[in-house]
Amino acid sequence: MVRPRRVYAQHWLKSQQVLDRIVEAAGCRRDDCILEIGPGTGILTRRLLPLVGGLVAVEIDRDLCKLLTQQLGGKENFLLLQGDFLELDLPTLLNSFSPWKYQNKVVANIPYNITGPIIEKLLGTIANPNSEPYESIVLLIQKEVADRLVASAGSRAFGALTVRVSYLAKCEYICTVPAKAFHPAPKVDSAVVRLVPRPLEIAANEPKYLEMLVKLGFSSKRKMLRNNLQSVIERDELAQILATLDINPQSRAEDLSVEEWVKLSNQLQELSNA
Ligand code: SAH
Repeated sequence: MVRPRRVYAQHWLKSQQVLDRIVEAAGCRRDDCILEIGPGTGILTRRLLPLVGGLVAVEIDRDLCKLLTQQLGGKENFLLLQGDFLELDLPTLLNSFSPWKYQNKVVANIPYNITGPIIEKLLGTIANPNSEPYESIVLLIQKEVADRLVASAGSRAFGALTVRVSYLAKCEYICTVPAKAFHPAPKVDSAVVRLVPRPLEIAANEPKYLEMLVKLGFSSKRKMLRNNLQSVIERDELAQILATLDINPQSRAEDLSVEEWVKLSNQLQELSNA
């Protein structure tokens, strides 16, 4: 077995059962072209390759790239890129490689130290969503982050991340993965999630404003929204607006659903324009 390196957050998955769940969640088809981030020693890659039309993998570790090229380089539907996923501009890079140009799905057991930036690169942001969204994104991530992605309003795990991600995608919790399913075992448990990009039923009129509002609203967690948003709206005025939106004026940031955040943003933004 290849010795895992801590700098690259390497933990090799060893559970066949978890691989089954990942593949099932991705619903792989012959006409899929998959993007895999951090193939590592290729345990997931080997599982995916026979099922799909193409697989583009991005791996930062040179030694692993050598190994993967030796072992899987002969597969026609496999393209390996060595580099930092966060730095690569994939569309430009692959533009001239016509069969590999578009990846419609992402399936990956990612490095946990860069989970947030990876999700942001895959989905984009509220103000700047990915213009060519993936059909689905199946990721193995820390359980704590998975819990935050699927949290419902009012629960402890609900936060700015929940709002930012669920504005752009439906988030589903697929299964919990115990630390012992990896070598070496990470310090925390993990989970498989599926993100399906879709427009929210109600859109923000001014996405940049919503982004700012969410950041401000969650800036001091225990406080009521009225206090956190004081710099954009007077407290009593906000209480009235919340009441007209059927939201308890005593609410804290984590009490508002994503839809309520959008409604509030649209109202406040209209006011600030008036
Ligand atoms: N998918 C493999 C390995 C998971 S560990 C498995 O399930 O066993 C995370 C992998 O991501 C490692 O192979 C690590 O080298 C790679 N990695 C870490 N940072 C990366 C980055 N910025 N870009 C691409 N790959 C990265």
